[in-house]
Amino acid sequence: MITGKTKLLGVIGYPVEHSLSPVMHNAAIAQLGLDCVYVPFPIEPQNLEVAIQGFSAVGVVGFNVTIPHKQAILPLLSEISPIAKAVGAVNTVSRKDNKWVGTNTDVEGFLAPLLTTYNRDWSQTVAVILGNGGAARAVVAGCAELGCAKILVIGRNTQKLEEFRNSWGNSREAKNLHVHTWDSLPKLIPQANLLVNTTPIGMYPKVEESPLSAEEMAHLPRQAIAYDLIYTPNPTQFLKQAQQVGAITIDGLEMLVQQGAAALKIWLQRDTVPVDVMRQALRQHLGLEE
Ligand code: NAP
Repeated sequence: MITGKTKLLGVIGYPVEHSLSPVMHNAAIAQLGLDCVYVPFPIEPQNLEVAIQGFSAVGVVGFNVTIPHKQAILPLLSEISPIAKAVGAVNTVSRKDNKWVGTNTDVEGFLAPLLTTYNRDWSQTVAVILGNGGAARAVVAGCAELGCAKILVIGRNTQKLEEFRNSWGNSREAKNLHVHTWDSLPKLIPQANLLVNTTPIGMYPKVEESPLSAEEMAHLPRQAIAYDLIYTPNPTQFLKQAQQVGAITIDGLEMLVQQGAAALKIWLQRDTVPVDVMRQALRQHLGLEE
């Protein structure tokens, strides 16, 4: 029930109607019995600054940021966390001392299933990352945090790849980072201990597509981890191929849940939030429940 004291959270993007964040956040809020609501805000790029001023005026507690505002929001914030600076994008904003503070919980979300389920020594790990867009930046930062021996990013556009490489400067992330074009894949797959798809290839409705051919996937070492950031369909063709060659598979749903849980903890200033309820709400919404 909305009351006179209801606190406002939300997500800004354009378009934003496909966002799954309201589903999982409102499920968690209901479970916790909080007088709070999480709302989608479609904000056109030219209205971003005035929208953020409006958020200050009406006392919004915090919000998520999605495409196309993840970089554009940076100059409008008073403080940016080191991880968001490293990634170069903000997905979570909170209010502190009447100022907007930005961070990035995608890295934490990406790492969560790796750290909880497959806790291993990552120092010998060769990570091969398919795609060099926004999500790939969080994955690179995550792999650097794990201490991977090599972080190999595959892209199709040499200019964008070079820009991606150069954008990390002399940072910790840049140390073991190399970029390659797709034609290097046959050489790189047999070395991969962690193979991450950050491209949208295989996403609904083109569910039969995969960034790799079955033959390329066949060279992935057994016991390698294949991680697809896509969460619908579940599993993707990429993950089905990986299962067939004996790899461990992780889908994108857990990253989505965990980045959301990390954001909610920040806004509510709580150490724990009902992650299971958030996961369950998403699975139900996506029709993944039996
Ligand atoms: P993005 O910034 O548009 O990046 C997409 C990347 O994929 C780009 O490098 C693009 O190459 C490459 N790509 C696209 N189509 C390709 C093709 N046919 N062949 C080869 N490369 C191709 O998008 P994003 O924000 O990183 O998101 C990527 C995917 O991750 C989406 O499916 C999204 O749903 C998913 N995601 C999931 C989560 C989660 O929580 N699970 C979080 C973030 C993103 P160019 O740069 O050359 O165009």
